[in-house]
Amino acid sequence: MTEYTVLKAGLKKQLEEIERLYPDASYNAQVEEFREQEYPQLNGITYLDHAATTLYSSSLIDAVSSDLKKTLFGNPHSLSPSSLETTRRIQDTRVRVLQLFNADPEHFDVVFCGNTTAAIKLVAHAFAARPNNVGSGFQYKVHEDSHTSLVGIRQMATDSQALSSYQMDAFVSSKGTDEFGLMAYPAQSNMTGQRYPLSWAGTLRQNRPGWYTLLDAAGLVTTSPLDLSNVSTAPDFVALSFYKIFGYPDLGGLIVRKASSSILQSRKYFGGGTVSFVMNLFDHPSNDLPHAVRKSGDPHEYLEDGTVPFHSIIALDHAISNHSRLYGNFKKISQHTQALGTLVFKSLKARKHVNGASIVDIYTDNHPSHLTSQGATFAFNLRKSDGSLVGFNDVLKLASVRDIHLRTGGLCNPGGVMKWMDLSAQEMRKNFAEGKRCGDEWDLMNGKPTGAVRVSLGAMSTLDDVARFISFIDEFYVEKTVSCIATELFPPSSNTTKISKISIYPIKSCAAFDIPPSKPWKIMTQGLEYDREFCLIHQGTGKVMDMKMYPKMALIRPFIDLKTQTLSISCKQASTALRIPLDESLPTHSYLITKKCNSKVCGDTVVVQAYSEKRISEWFSDALGVPCTIARYPSAPDGGGRYMKNHLRQANGEIPIALRNESPILIVNRKSLDPINEVISTTGGKLSDISVFRSNIIVDGPQPFDEDKWLELGFRNSNSTIQLLGPCRRCHMICIDQATSERSPEPFVTLSKLRTINGKIYFGQHATFICDSDEQTGSIQIGDEVDINYIDLDTSDTDSGESCSSGNTAITVDTTADTAEPAVKQEAARTSCILQ
Ligand SMILES: *Cc1c(COP(=O)(O)O)cnc(C)c1O
Repeated sequence: MTEYTVLKAGLKKQLEEIERLYPDASYNAQVEEFREQEYPQLNGITYLDHAATTLYSSSLIDAVSSDLKKTLFGNPHSLSPSSLETTRRIQDTRVRVLQLFNADPEHFDVVFCGNTTAAIKLVAHAFAARPNNVGSGFQYKVHEDSHTSLVGIRQMATDSQALSSYQMDAFVSSKGTDEFGLMAYPAQSNMTGQRYPLSWAGTLRQNRPGWYTLLDAAGLVTTSPLDLSNVSTAPDFVALSFYKIFGYPDLGGLIVRKASSSILQSRKYFGGGTVSFVMNLFDHPSNDLPHAVRKSGDPHEYLEDGTVPFHSIIALDHAISNHSRLYGNFKKISQHTQALGTLVFKSLKARKHVNGASIVDIYTDNHPSHLTSQGATFAFNLRKSDGSLVGFNDVLKLASVRDIHLRTGGLCNPGGVMKWMDLSAQEMRKNFAEGKRCGDEWDLMNGKPTGAVRVSLGAMSTLDDVARFISFIDEFYVEKTVSCIATELFPPSSNTTKISKISIYPIKSCAAFDIPPSKPWKIMTQGLEYDREFCLIHQGTGKVMDMKMYPKMALIRPFIDLKTQTLSISCKQASTALRIPLDESLPTHSYLITKKCNSKVCGDTVVVQAYSEKRISEWFSDALGVPCTIARYPSAPDGGGRYMKNHLRQANGEIPIALRNESPILIVNRKSLDPINEVISTTGGKLSDISVFRSNIIVDGPQPFDEDKWLELGFRNSNSTIQLLGPCRRCHMICIDQATSERSPEPFVTLSKLRTINGKIYFGQHATFICDSDEQTGSIQIGDEVDINYIDLDTSDTDSGESCSSGNTAITVDTTADTAEPAVKQEAARTSCILQ
């Protein structure tokens, strides 16, 4: 038996134990049976992001497509037979939606809209537009664990406040008479999976007749029933997204309690279909002589502007039937996901490092065995054996390599993040001032996480999904023994080496141009000549494209011809190579327009000159299947304004880096790949080529990881020096084979086990060129002899870095020079190698 089957068998036993709590839970076998056929998109993938969207089944798509193929559906606003057919379907679907939630159509209506957010906005606009004769403005109370889309309502309220559960309880339970307001909360938090009492709505109505409740049910309904059978205690408005229940169609709804609906009439705007009378007059109407009269029937009649998304509504009808055929009812789904969720929760909690330390902080006040207070969604951060945090971004990268799909970051829940990460308003603002933005890669700042990892289960999740996830946690995050590839294992045998390869990447993220052996190449403070001077930009977003998103870029091969001063670019798809002159002053550049692109390179905004000529953009667009063109970074002597701070070993330091990632030069030691490949070969993985590290200079160092101890490299021929700046942090871009553009998990997986320091994965060294002459340039060539000048370990300048904790090895982590990553800077209090 493999390790995995042992793990899965153990989890299966635990699951059976848990399922005793839930008599309807055990449909695992059923899902396993139909999953391959119904969800072929899941083949080989562990999908744990159902809280973002669950998945549609094959049979749903087949049913919708055959219906659309055989039936003629006209626009519902006409009166032709095809139009009436559409209207009839919409009417029927409306009732079916209400039945899904036990909502009596006599007392409830559903308004179709884009998504939950659009439903929330409809309510907000109506409240904000309450006519003056009944008093203007409204008070707003929102639960602290709310989605950003609920938080946004406060911009329209006269007075608003975020409440904890305790405060919300107190508010709904105390009497109040003369106010008018809206209270909103999630039925289930999109971040923590915590569930909040549906009874708040009824209690509020009883105690404060001037108040309304807006329930955000988007998180809950993914896996749970919502019961609106008691009209007197039901929320006034319920917002939800249908794609979160069925995976498809992309459609939302607002369920309105009809008795509370008149406030929605205050909405100012009217669109086609929502008025029963309208004139084209623009002076001020009076009450006696109106210019337009809103429809007065059910809320959907006066709230659905223009043509409803009728094909989607027809698809929704199929989605409801299909879902019930596959899963029975919501109660079953709820118990099934809850049992699996409990297993995730218990397994994470039970895991311990070799020293007994716990591996996880799960952010919830509740236990998943209480269905009413916790759903099958969990937010957490992982910890190492020394108690330090693992950045959620690194978890995301490794999970992606294992094809495990989860969500990380602030999760669109600012209150949840502030509460659980223990971030004060001041700390949030400080992070923002330091550059933190929603959705970026900064996971740890000033010693605290900026968000979390979230896993969430859905109707089609199985025990296997849970087992794959736990096995991933065991493989990478449970420390079992102390080990670290450290340099003292390999005492240096010599202090000289040779340059074995020189590469530049004229177009950022595209293939390397290897400098021919006989050719000396110019080197300057900003790096090697023509390295990353060009880039590709997406014509839609203006953003600089990278290989992570577009792996095929590896197949675009640039060639620099210094004789003819041209950059020629070839790729398999194009029959002819594209030629671009290197001399920027040539008149041929009449087609070069300056386009200010707020493109981002490692968080910096850059301005590039885009080539707008159609011939050029079409060449690249065809090659990649993406609308894009090439752009040039002005090769100004100052490197065009992007700098890296060099506090490390040079007092005066800003180094120009143009479009280069983080430093002017990247240098790797070919020998360091050997121990990595040795481990890979024992696991049967794909051996890696040194080209995946996309370095500029490859040397054959005396020993593996000798470069961790290098201070400077002196080139004998040109009498010039390269200064080392610190290790290079790696991401899963190194999994892209540079010859084929195919991805594999290696060498990232093995590297993460052997070369993780401070939670970051390192290989290679950043470097900069220092010229001993006044010209500020030099040249290097393959075969050049290199003298290694080592860091003086005895008098090691402690403020320049930290050492690997397992002994006095010299894996030096630069804790100050890494401008692109404050996380490295902040998290350096303790440096340790990962224990595996
Ligand atoms: C997903 C979600 C939303 C947002 O839904 P959209 O479809 O993006 O509008 C809001 N609240 C919760 C609780 C959610 O889970």
